Amino acid sequence: MTPQNPITAGALLTIDLDAICDNWRALRGRIAGGDCAAVVKADAYGLGARRVGPALHAAGCRHFFVAHVDEGIALRSVLPDDATIFILHGPPPGAEPEVLAHGLVPVINSLQQLAAWRGLARQTGRALPAILQVDTGMAHLGLTNADLDALGADPEALTGIDLRLVMSHLVSAEAPEDPINSLQLQRFVAARRRLPSVPASLANSSGIFLGPNFHFDLGRPGAALYGVAPIAGAANPMRSVIRLQGKVIQTRHIDAGTAVGYGQHWTAARPTRVATVSVGYADGYLRSLSNRGQVHLDGQALPLVGRVSMDTITIDVTEVPEDRIHAGTLIDLAGPGNGVDAIAACAGTIGYEVLTSLGQRYARQYVGSGAQA
Ligand SMILES: *Cc1c(COP(=O)(O)O)cnc(C)c1O
Repeated sequence: MTPQNPITAGALLTIDLDAICDNWRALRGRIAGGDCAAVVKADAYGLGARRVGPALHAAGCRHFFVAHVDEGIALRSVLPDDATIFILHGPPPGAEPEVLAHGLVPVINSLQQLAAWRGLARQTGRALPAILQVDTGMAHLGLTNADLDALGADPEALTGIDLRLVMSHLVSAEAPEDPINSLQLQRFVAARRRLPSVPASLANSSGIFLGPNFHFDLGRPGAALYGVAPIAGAANPMRSVIRLQGKVIQTRHIDAGTAVGYGQHWTAARPTRVATVSVGYADGYLRSLSNRGQVHLDGQALPLVGRVSMDTITIDVTEVPEDRIHAGTLIDLAGPGNGVDAIAACAGTIGYEVLTSLGQRYARQYVGSGAQA
């Protein structure tokens, strides 16, 4: 169910494709000697890979990363042939022919994946493109040092592999002072010396801000494209991308002492006007924002009161002039004045989770020059 009708929907999600493209250009501009990819996994962090991918391609992006093979297959059908789509997880066992058939390029994370991809190359009689990922600290994907030893001992290990890139992934790039960053850089440089000399990629969004040593030949930003702050605790240089507006269903006046919502989690201390808004945790409005979240009307902050329900939130609108708010009034739940990072901090999570939680019941509207695509 994906309602696209702003009249019937309970909430509107506006996604600014120009802002995403501007963010991509700004990130690319920081990478002096290399190119910039776009990570569009998880449906472009919840914002719609079928719209975001083509918009970024029109802006000049030619390298796209997704996590799953199925995401790659879906993206392939909306991107021109000169776009390369990389599969971060590599093929699950048995999926190699699908990866090849759809012209996708796997990130090879283990010797087992390497052997399977090599086997398919032998079968088809041609060299198959791949990225090799080495583990420099994440300890969940990529070749270990022992794997590199084994690879070095086998002269046939890369036979039939058209090695496009060697990559690794940073574990704490958003914390520039963390010594793990330079340690991973050292390990990455050491691992590259043990492999054929091909282009390299290390930096995610935050990694791009760690300086040129981390840039290599290809940046792999995801979150910063979508407006998430790349450096924890610092000013956010990225443009805001989303605006989420929820519709008021009804308002009511309650007496002091009246509790609102499930569990009687909040009780009015004074005569209060409460507005019920048509967004809840089923829409990705996180339940941990119960009694904590803030929303805005005409730039004025309004507190969320009571629990976040599945389909509704309740806000205290006592301070708002009586005639300014009624059924149908749009309340700003997320946007430039209330960014995903601020919401995440309030909810005890990160902007990535706020974005990827965005629900399917919103009337999604794309704006910007790529919006007609
Ligand atoms: C998700 C991901 C990225 C993008 O990370 P951001 O922090 O969103 O920029 C880059 N590389 C890999 C391997 C990833 O899994």
